[in-house]
Amino acid sequence: MIRPMQARDKAPVLGLIRATEFFTAAEVGVAEELMDVYLDRPDQKDYGVVVVENDQGGPAGYMTWGPTPLAEDAYDLYWMAVAPSDQGKGRGKELVRWLEAEVGRRNGISDIRKSPGSRISTGPATIASSTRSISVRSLEMDEWQRLLRGALRKPEEIARKFGLDIEEVRRIAKVFKIQITPYYAGLIKERGDAMWRQMVPDMAELQADSGESDPLHEDEDSPVPSIVHRYPDRCLFLVSHSCASYCRFCTRKRKVGDPSKIHPRYIEDGLAYIRSHPEVRDVVISGGDPLMLGDRKLEVIVKGVRAIPHVEIIRIGTRVPCVLPQRVTEKLVAMLKKYHPLYVNVHFNHPDEITPESSRALALLADAGIPLGNQTVLLKGVNDDPQVMRRLMQKLLAVRVKPYYLYQADYVSGTEHLRTTVEKGLEIMENLRGWTSGLAVPYYAIDAPGGGGKIPILPKYLQAITDDHVVLRNYAGELFVYPQVKAKPKRKPRPAAPPCYSFDGAPPMP
Ligand code: SF4
Repeated sequence: MIRPMQARDKAPVLGLIRATEFFTAAEVGVAEELMDVYLDRPDQKDYGVVVVENDQGGPAGYMTWGPTPLAEDAYDLYWMAVAPSDQGKGRGKELVRWLEAEVGRRNGISDIRKSPGSRISTGPATIASSTRSISVRSLEMDEWQRLLRGALRKPEEIARKFGLDIEEVRRIAKVFKIQITPYYAGLIKERGDAMWRQMVPDMAELQADSGESDPLHEDEDSPVPSIVHRYPDRCLFLVSHSCASYCRFCTRKRKVGDPSKIHPRYIEDGLAYIRSHPEVRDVVISGGDPLMLGDRKLEVIVKGVRAIPHVEIIRIGTRVPCVLPQRVTEKLVAMLKKYHPLYVNVHFNHPDEITPESSRALALLADAGIPLGNQTVLLKGVNDDPQVMRRLMQKLLAVRVKPYYLYQADYVSGTEHLRTTVEKGLEIMENLRGWTSGLAVPYYAIDAPGGGGKIPILPKYLQAITDDHVVLRNYAGELFVYPQVKAKPKRKPRPAAPPCYSFDGAPPMP
């Protein structure tokens, strides 16, 4: 039987939570706090606590649940724990079924489903769980949600589809999230090609001593869980933990796909933070992927940011046009265009990702007056070739996307096999500037480890600078002299900087 928690249940519930050995001491503290508030005010609307009884009428398990913030149709199962002695008796399933029925009763809906991507596993081995979402809608699914439901995510499916060893895939899945949309899987033509390398899990991800989980130290610049505030006038607002497909090289591998790290309950805190920081004039809405939220939820967030008077521009960072272009609908762009000035930064890494489907999605966004920029990550075996990169940049311009950044891959755990040398990036930049339209040339940058921010890296075009002249090298390696302004005040001679990059065939520095 399931009933609301009472004061006499508190000690045994705390005992069974600890016995699961699933939660940290700090988490047990939070669970206790939530229980105390609930026992004090059982009629409050924020959340509820129930227990499932054991054969003696004591608590065999408990659950904290409540409405998902900002969503009218979803509920979260925040905490659940079942005593180890009651494992295998279906207590967890009982709790989840009760919650589904309760959610349905409250909304007058009998057709309950788990939201796409949520995993409420309550088999005998599962004795505890943190946040899971339950959505009460199933009949009004959009086409993109249906496609997303068909994404490859189970290790068995992935292993079968790509001919991998099932045990190896299982090992990787325990550490890093895996999911590939059927659309993106369809772009993979052969084992090890550019699209394969970006999405198909590889045992090299488990290589020890490679990279850091948070190389950019974002967590240190995070005043509230949904905000990263590093630069003076702009901040990152993390609003969705999920992505349509999980890229093997992701900088936020530690967070994506984990609702306890990026969760809707932190969104109001993020809005409050931005409201109280008048210096923030540019908000980058990111995740995970913000376009994984439904239109209504996304609008609540975008509208909330737009209502803050000192926010001048809103940017949305998304990989959806590349991996699930069907998600970009007329309904979505009609909503977004209400909140101009709004920019969208997309993420394409290879020219073959620009397909009729992704071009349609980008055209919809561009037609809504949304300026589009692209961020590319330099990846070994994907785009570490000047011809491939040039074609990518040219194709992006042809679909009205301005190449914005080319990033040196971050020093992230589990991605060493995808990193290239910085010299390779400089070689690619040499092969872009001058050889194709200036519009097609992105900034090449390293996001400095330790939180130093994005640092632009340029091939050495400025060869020497004196009071009288500047020696410049053009894209073809030829030298030219530019005279300095004559009335310039004399300055102390500056020691020549050592060359940090040598260009094959360029004459030595004067
Ligand atoms: S879509 Fe972006 S956030 Fe999501 S896994 Fe790929 S790189 Fe990471």
